[in-house]
Amino acid sequence: MSEQAANGVQHPAAGEPNIRRKPSMVPSSVPVALNRISRDLVGRPAHEIPLLLTEGLVWALRLGLAGLWEHDPARAVLRCRVLVGPFGEPVPAQGELDAAQTELGKLARGAHTVQVDGEKLLAEVLLMPETIPPKLGTVFVGVPLWDGEQPRRLLGLFLGRRLSVDEIALVELVARQAVTEMRRGADAVESSTDESESTAVNFIALLAHELRTPLTGLRGNIQLAEMAVRKGDYSRVPGRLDTSRRLIDTVVALVQNLQDMSRLERGIFTPTLVSANLTTTLWNAVQRAERTIVSDQHALMVQVPGPIIGWHDPHQIEQVFYNLLVNAVAYSPAGGVIQVRAERDGDGARVSITDPGIGIPPEEQASIFAPYYRGALGRQAQSKGLGLGLTISQSTVEHHGGVIDVQSRAGEGASFIVHLPLTPPRSAE
Ligand code: ADP
Repeated sequence: MSEQAANGVQHPAAGEPNIRRKPSMVPSSVPVALNRISRDLVGRPAHEIPLLLTEGLVWALRLGLAGLWEHDPARAVLRCRVLVGPFGEPVPAQGELDAAQTELGKLARGAHTVQVDGEKLLAEVLLMPETIPPKLGTVFVGVPLWDGEQPRRLLGLFLGRRLSVDEIALVELVARQAVTEMRRGADAVESSTDESESTAVNFIALLAHELRTPLTGLRGNIQLAEMAVRKGDYSRVPGRLDTSRRLIDTVVALVQNLQDMSRLERGIFTPTLVSANLTTTLWNAVQRAERTIVSDQHALMVQVPGPIIGWHDPHQIEQVFYNLLVNAVAYSPAGGVIQVRAERDGDGARVSITDPGIGIPPEEQASIFAPYYRGALGRQAQSKGLGLGLTISQSTVEHHGGVIDVQSRAGEGASFIVHLPLTPPRSAE
């Protein structure tokens, strides 16, 4: 069964956002379902996330109703952003609530998740109570969503039963991730439209987001592991630690790129050449990518001959292959197969990484290796990325006396080809 079918929240085909599709099957357990929703949020445009989140929760928790309200502190009102009914259909509930006087307003300004009597809040939520069947749920769970210092949104869920502590923690985790993604999406739009902002300002904003996402996930996973240990449920701990390690690896790779870029800018980025097996270096990158970025929505097909011994800096060249793999995954749709191929090429070696993704328009191909450059299609596809990976990769390969070529057409995938000599370049001898 495909991941897509299991999720019930489908990835859109190009140009055709689809976040309303009903799930085709019910998951075996709530935690699995919530984890999948959490993964599906990544890279979505900010405006799609509230519906995706609430619809996903209605399905996963078999809710009566889920809504997301936004707090406007200037006017002291709570505005309904989206309300989803028992069958995952959006419910019209326009209007504003007094943030100071209403129960929902108080919950939104609170610091903690609460479970309260559902009946009390139904009228406030629906604004038109007579049109909705009564007894949608007896419990209301309100999750205030903090954005920096201020609680700015409220996620509200109507249920037929109380949620367990673990379920609450998972809902909070998914909700926090939704806020991060919404903010990331909003900032991506701002950074792509606001020409007056300096590159440095944009870069810091992007960097903060790139760090925040894995760190939010890390904190959530550690909290859940602690909770499992307290309950003596050790079976869940290895999975949580595994995810935590993956998230740490993501941060480490990011920091590595920052450090390399800084060395490049200061002119002190030089490889330490040793005679090593290029195939092993490539495998190390593939394994790192599989641990950190390749979800069960992407597959890597690796074709390598026997050993290819040559002079290179294994650490730096591994990072080149890893960066290219990160991009191949990031810019390809779910279900995409990424082909990795290494072969001898005269006196040198040729390594290609080919993806079936969005591709790169011809007019952008000359710019993609420039520092901090992020392509227009790339920004639309998903708002991740600092625009450093290709700059560092190209520079690393050139310091080895090699070149990187790109072959691509918009909408038809991309192929990055690394040509490396196997003998040390003259300057390094
Ligand atoms: P980023 O962090 O934005 O991915 P990179 O330097 O790695 O930075 O890439 C620069 C730009 O090149 C990306 O923003 C994207 O537009 C484009 N790009 C890189 N790799 C691919 C790919 N495999 N498919 C499509 N576009 C790509």
